[in-house]
Formats: sequence, structure tokens, C-alpha cells
Amino acid sequence: MAGASLNAARRSGDIDRLAAGETVDLVVIGGGVTGCGIALDAALRGLSTVLIERRDLANGTSRWSSKLIHGGLRYLRHFGFQVAWESARERQILMRTTAPHLVHALPFVVPSNDACPPRLSLMSEAGIRCGDLLRLGAGSRRSDLPGARRISGLEALRLAPAINRPDLRGALLFWDGQVEDDARLVIGLARTAARQGARILTYCSARSVDRSGVDVRDELNGGTFRIHSRMVVNATGVWAGEIDPQVSLQPSKGVHLVVRASALGNPRAAVITPIKGDTARWVAATPISDSRVLVGVTDDAYDGALSDEPDVTLDEERFLLDVLAQALNSPLLPDAVIGRYAGFRPLVAGASDSTADLSRQDKIIDNDDMGVTTIVGGKLTTYRAMAEKTLDHVLQHAGRTARPCLTARIPLVGAVGETVLAGKQTPERLIRRYGTEAPLLVGLAMGDQSLLSPIADGVDALGVELIFGVKHEGALSVDDLLDRRLRLGLVPAEREAALEAAQALFAQASA
Ligand SMILES: Cc1cc2nc3c(=O)[nH]c(=O)nc-3n(C[C@H](O)[C@H](O)[C@H](O)COP(=O)(O)OP(=O)(O)OC[C@H]3O[C@@H](n4cnc5c(N)ncnc54)[C@H](O)[C@@H]3O)c2cc1C
Repeated sequence: MAGASLNAARRSGDIDRLAAGETVDLVVIGGGVTGCGIALDAALRGLSTVLIERRDLANGTSRWSSKLIHGGLRYLRHFGFQVAWESARERQILMRTTAPHLVHALPFVVPSNDACPPRLSLMSEAGIRCGDLLRLGAGSRRSDLPGARRISGLEALRLAPAINRPDLRGALLFWDGQVEDDARLVIGLARTAARQGARILTYCSARSVDRSGVDVRDELNGGTFRIHSRMVVNATGVWAGEIDPQVSLQPSKGVHLVVRASALGNPRAAVITPIKGDTARWVAATPISDSRVLVGVTDDAYDGALSDEPDVTLDEERFLLDVLAQALNSPLLPDAVIGRYAGFRPLVAGASDSTADLSRQDKIIDNDDMGVTTIVGGKLTTYRAMAEKTLDHVLQHAGRTARPCLTARIPLVGAVGETVLAGKQTPERLIRRYGTEAPLLVGLAMGDQSLLSPIADGVDALGVELIFGVKHEGALSVDDLLDRRLRLGLVPAEREAALEAAQALFAQASA
């Protein structure tokens, strides 16, 4: 456990040693899912590894996803069998071995109604059946992910009551993976890498890269230092071109709304409905924890200035609500929307005009003059495969050898199946979010029951989660706690309600 703990003291010790002139094998720039996945893989291969992130872990796109660990159904439409196969295989690895505590199966319902006419329904079924073959090929058991089937309107309503419409003729049911919280996956990766000896330095930005290392600015005190390194990987997602100007991306913006689950009849399944006039794009209403539903996602080319927390426009919100309304008995009222967020997909620039058509395939780009290799594209689901390919490539390119990749076999911190955890005398919320580490959080309360209670009215987070965030998960500020450890920032009213308690607990845990 001590080895997996990230905190302010460990960070400053690591910076001092690096600034003193140590040379490491690898610097990874970027603390999203891609960078943290690479840091873990590298550390497991025995490479001395440093990851630098200019703000907090999961500061970028990785916390703005749809939270799906998906088998890549949509890629089949473009005959993207390679991406779909890789996704199905990686989904299985996450669900079975690396993060079964965070990734679970979720049912999806595609209602057959006027918005999804028979032809589209048949096309969807064909795609879903192909996805089923990939699922079987990837070794997923029916107990992990049940097979797809047609269901009656009545069964569909039991799963998603709000689709009760006169034109409902039945539905297609299929299953895919969902991650409890995308940022928690990133933090789990970073801590597992730290357990293997990787140094994870948040609030450290790469200022410039050359063949012998990286110049770094400590964003907490403004100081600068150099990390001498044999290899450098740029995993900065949509910001990759700021490190290596040769990298050309076409970011696409994706928007989600956070909706009260009660407004949709507390669904147990995600509902997906097509965007009119587009057979490839759908809007989903996906149930997530804490009695909420995510409605998303848009996919529009974006050429404006990049931001860590992109705005959601009224038009984007209206668009999602309008498409979803096609599947509902009555449209969602705007006051059902309690939060909204957007992120930028780091898509590799290509020939297509539509970002929905641009490949989600990842791409590795070497810049030998700078001595940096960039990895872009891909998805949350395939982070592990991306890391493996990147490191195989970088090692070969540098003429170096290391142990083979082990990440498909090594569980992340906290990983164990839900059935093993069920029945332990630990709050369900902690098991769901921290897996085997849940009892450690209970221990942090040291008998103080108030720390095992919600920190504010209308907020589910417990006091011990904030203390754990500071002592073991590398939270260096109240914002880190609220926005990336607890995700209360997804619903501004909850963030506001929790702020005072979070400030007090942050001060207590940092003392
Ligand atoms: C709306 C949306 C929905 C999505 N849904 C899904 C989904 O359901 N399932 C799925 O599999 N995929 C999904 N994706 C794709 C997935 O989220 C991304 O592919 C993935 O998160 C990208 O991760 P990354 O680590 O490459 O980039 P990021 O998460 O953006 O990480 C890059 C990091 O680099 C840091 N950085 C930038 N510049 C510097 C610097 N100079 N020095 C140090 N650090 C720096 C940034 O702060 C950032 O934290 C979705 C994407 C979007 C936008």
C-alpha cells in the first residue's frame, strides 16, 4: 500500500532527486489514461520511469468520457474490425483481470419505434450480432457479458420505464462495459505504476523536450528543473501538438448532460436512439451511480482554443434533449439536467470531413530531431494495448531491451471481483469505488463515525474519501478532491454543497 500512495511529500522528494541530476530511462508527458497506462507498463518492464502532468491526474479528456468500456460496435460500420476486436479484447481484460472492481456489464436497449424504423433496426441488429461474435472471440463469458437478444416492449419498459410510447414495438437488448468513474481508472493506473516504482509528478509541465531530456516547470512553486532521460513519450492527448509541432490532430468536441435518474423513471439499462438522418450516430441515456443518467454524446469537429473544461452551449444541450425525446414518452424538462460537461477527442487528422468518421485508431509518431515519440488517438478502453504498442515501438526505436509487457496480467490497486467483496462490513459505495482498498478507508476514520457519513446534505461522498484522496491518491488541492477524486464537480450544486467540508478535510489531511 505504501508504494502505491501518492501525496505531496512523495512528490517533493521525487522532484528533489530528479533535479539533482539523476538520469531515468523514460519520461512520459501527460497524466491521462494513455500516459498513466504507459507509465505502468514501463515500470512493470523494469524501466525507471517518471510521469509528468501539468495539472492533476485525469485533468484532460480522460475524465470527460461517456464512461463506457466498449466493445467497439460503432467501428464495425466502417469495417474497422481491428479497432473493434482490440476493444472487445481490452474490455475483457479490464472486466476480468485489471479492473473488475471498476468495470461492470451494463444492459443497453435500442427501442424499435418510429425513430428507429425497421431498416435501421435490422442494421443495428446485424452490427450488434457481429459485436457478439467479437465478444465470444475475446473470451467474454455470458456471465460477464450476456449475449444480445430481441426483447418485448414490456421487458424493455421494465429496464427503461421512460420509453413507454404508443409506437414502441419491442427492442434490442445488448450488453457492454461501463467504468464506475473514468478518473478513478486513471488514478488507479497511476498508483499501480507508483507501486512498481514509477514517479508520478502532478503539477509539473513539460516546457521543452530534446534528445537528452525534458525541461520541467513545477506549477506549484514556479521553479524549473530538468529530467535527464533516455526516452521521452508525449501522451498529452489533444495538446500533443504543443509538445511536437509535427503532430496534426483534428479534435472533436463531445458533450454530455447529467440528468436526475428519477426524471427517466430510474432506468436499469441505457437507452440509445438514432440521430435523425445519420445511421452511424446515436444519443444514449446511460445510468451511472448516485442516481444519475448521462445523456450524450455529440461529436463535432472543433477548431477553437482548447480548454481543460470546455463549455457546453445551449444549442448542444438542446440537441441532445431533442434527440433523446424521440425515444421518450415525454421530453425531459430542462430542470432535470443537473450538470453538463464536454471534452475533446484527440483524433488523428484524416481524409474524412466528419469527426464521427475519423478513425479512433491510435497513431505513434516519432520526432527524431527532438527525441520524442507521440502517441495519440485511441480510447479509454484501449489504453493498455496503446501502452504496449508504444513501449514496444519506443524500445525498438531506441535499440533498447526490457522485459516483455505484463499489463494484461497485473490487476490495478483495489482490483478484485465484486462477488469477493460483497458481504464485507464496508459501505457499498466504498467497495464500488475503491475495491479491496475499501477497508483501508474505513480504517482511516479511526472510529469517528462522522467520517463515514456523507460530507454534506444531498452529497453521497464520505469524509474518509477526502482523507484518502490527500494521503494516498495524490490530491494536492481542494479542486483535485472535488473534481477528480470525488467527481462532485459534475453537478455544480453538489460541489457547492460539499465545498466547505472539503476545505476543512483537506486542511486536516494535509497537516
Ligand atoms: C466526449 C467523449 C466521450 C468519450 N467516451 C469514451 C468512452 O466512453 N469510452 C472510451 O473508451 N473512450 C471514450 N472517449 C475517448 C477517451 O476519453 C480518450 O481517447 C482518452 O481519454 C484520451 O486520453 P489521453 O490520456 O490520451 O488524453 P488526456 O486525458 O487529455 O490526457 C492528456 C494529459 O496531458 C496533460 N498535458 C498537456 N500538456 C502537458 C504538458 N505540457 N506537460 C504535462 N502534461 C501535459 C493534460 O493536462 C492531460 O491531463 C471519449 C472522448 C470524449 C471526448
